[in-house]
Amino acid sequence: MNEDADPIARASLIVAHDGANAYDAVVPPIAQTSLFTFPSYEEMNETYKGNRVRPTYTRGLNPTVRHFEEMIARLEGGEDALGFASGMAAISSTVMSFVRPGDRLVCVRHVYPDAYRLFETLLKSYGVETVYVDGRDEAAVARALPGAALFYLESPTSWSMDALDVASLATLARKHGVVTAIDNSWASPVFQQPLSLGVDLVLHSASKYIGGHSDVVAGVVTGSKALVGRVRSTTYPYLGGKLSPFDAWLLIRGLRTLPARMKAHEAAALHIARRLAAHPLVEAVLHPGLGNTLPPGLSGTSGLFSFTFTEDVDIPTFADRLRLFKLGVSWGGHESLVVPALVVHNQAAGPNSAVDFGISPRMVRLHVGLEGAEALWADLGGAIEAARI
Ligand SMILES: *Cc1c(COP(=O)(O)O)cnc(C)c1O
Repeated sequence: MNEDADPIARASLIVAHDGANAYDAVVPPIAQTSLFTFPSYEEMNETYKGNRVRPTYTRGLNPTVRHFEEMIARLEGGEDALGFASGMAAISSTVMSFVRPGDRLVCVRHVYPDAYRLFETLLKSYGVETVYVDGRDEAAVARALPGAALFYLESPTSWSMDALDVASLATLARKHGVVTAIDNSWASPVFQQPLSLGVDLVLHSASKYIGGHSDVVAGVVTGSKALVGRVRSTTYPYLGGKLSPFDAWLLIRGLRTLPARMKAHEAAALHIARRLAAHPLVEAVLHPGLGNTLPPGLSGTSGLFSFTFTEDVDIPTFADRLRLFKLGVSWGGHESLVVPALVVHNQAAGPNSAVDFGISPRMVRLHVGLEGAEALWADLGGAIEAARI
């Protein structure tokens, strides 16, 4: 693929061309079935012997799920992909396929909080140690990598939105023979294809932009046949976090409009980020598209970013005065959402990455949806004025 090609045009062509469906249906039918019968003993026996690949049971292989996996593999440039019941199922099944007791995992700082909690609770109890490094500090990464079982990345990172030089980090990991996995949910396969930057495995919470309509929780991993095959044989069948056919069908529908939606999220979020950056009650805006150029391989920006208020804003009042922006976690759908970091700081028991990572309680995370940038800015600007102390 030509690197200079328009990322929206590239992705639009991929999601538009799908091959033939039964009945020449423009939308693929849903194989909503738990099992598949065999026409003969011979066919059953050959399938069990591994001489024939065909669906047997939906926890293993389902045609609708496979259709979704193939679309993701094409978008990311992977040889194979595997769908999951959630982003966390994809993350946990993938990471646990590459680490054993006594192993060390290297992880960039500010990853998705539940990935961090997985490493700090379950994996720790299984004897896997996780070392956190600032992904912008390549010398620190180089010191941490030797002997590691896996290098786990996310870029841009959660809340702090550090846009990492993924290609350089992947090259470094290759040099030390360490397998890399990256959470690419933020950029989506439209704006970043980490496999082309040298990363080994790409993970998505498909609950975000890939689904795109806030009606499905799902995940996916893609990469080479060999590495996805390792996940498929090591954890996938036994942890059993499989993607359902109906959810796969919703994701296929979501993918059709992914490029168009990403373009709209990018434009609206940049508009609002620039207005916030110029606002006297805003101390800092954390958006990879403001100021500096994007790192190589990141060809656009999405609708999720953070900013920090000065001391002169009452954050609960601000949150309650918003009308278009709804208070809610997750992101990637049509609707605009806001999360004040204060609630994360006040969160009950358990490892709390917001506090551990020093995320300021004056920070607010926005997901800019598709309601229209001017109306969204009017909503935000009004709420900020109403919350001025
Ligand atoms: C939501 C999210 C996840 C987890 O995905 P689920 O589908 O909720 O399990 C992982 N990574 C990032 C960056 C996310 O935002």
